[in-house]
Amino acid sequence: MPGFNGKTALALARCWREKQKALWGLKMKEAEAKAHDGGCACRYVRYRMTSKPLYVHCCHCRWCQRESGASFALNALIESSRVQLVQGEVQTVHTPSNSGLGQKISRCPECQIALWSNYAGAGDGIHFIRVGTLDEPDRLPPDIHIFTASKQPWLPLPPDIPAVSEYYDASEIWPQDSLDRRARVRRPA
Ligand SMILES: [Zn+2]
Ligand SMILES: [Zn+2]
Repeated sequence: MPGFNGKTALALARCWREKQKALWGLKMKEAEAKAHDGGCACRYVRYRMTSKPLYVHCCHCRWCQRESGASFALNALIESSRVQLVQGEVQTVHTPSNSGLGQKISRCPECQIALWSNYAGAGDGIHFIRVGTLDEPDRLPPDIHIFTASKQPWLPLPPDIPAVSEYYDASEIWPQDSLDRRARVRRPA
C-alpha cells in the first residue's frame, strides 16, 4: 500500500486506542448516572446502588411510622448484589416487624443511622434501601403507596401513583424487567 508504513500503523493504533478510551469513559459515565450513592450521617458508611431499584415503596404502616418517627417510610427495593459498601461497615440490628417474622436493619455502628432493611419475606437477597440516606433522594420518588389504611390523614396522595390500602401482588404491578430481575434472586429457604 503506497504511503502506508510503520508510522501510519502506529498512528492508527493510537487513534483506535484513544477512541476506545473515550468510549469506555462514556460507558463509565453512563453507569455512574444510573448509580445512586448514599451513606449515614457521620459519613463512616458510604454505599452505592449500582443500578436503578426494582421498585420504590412509600409505606404508611404504623410500624414504619414508629420506626422512622415520621409519617411514612420510603424504601427502594434492590438486589443486595447491586449494593456495594464503598466505605465502612454496617451493623445488623434485629428488629420486630409487621409480619411478626422480624427484620434486620443495617445501621452505621457509629451514628446508628439505618441504611437498609432485610425482611423475612424477601430475605437477604433484597435490600430495602432507605431512600432518605441517598445523596440525591429526589431521584427516587415512590412507585406505589402501600398500607394507606393507616396513612396520616393530613397527607394527600398524588392521584397518578398507585396506592393500596395494605399490600399488593408485585406480579400484577411491577414492570417486567423488575420481575425478571427479582426472579433471579435466590429466595429464602
Ligand atoms: Zn455513621
Ligand atoms: Zn411499613
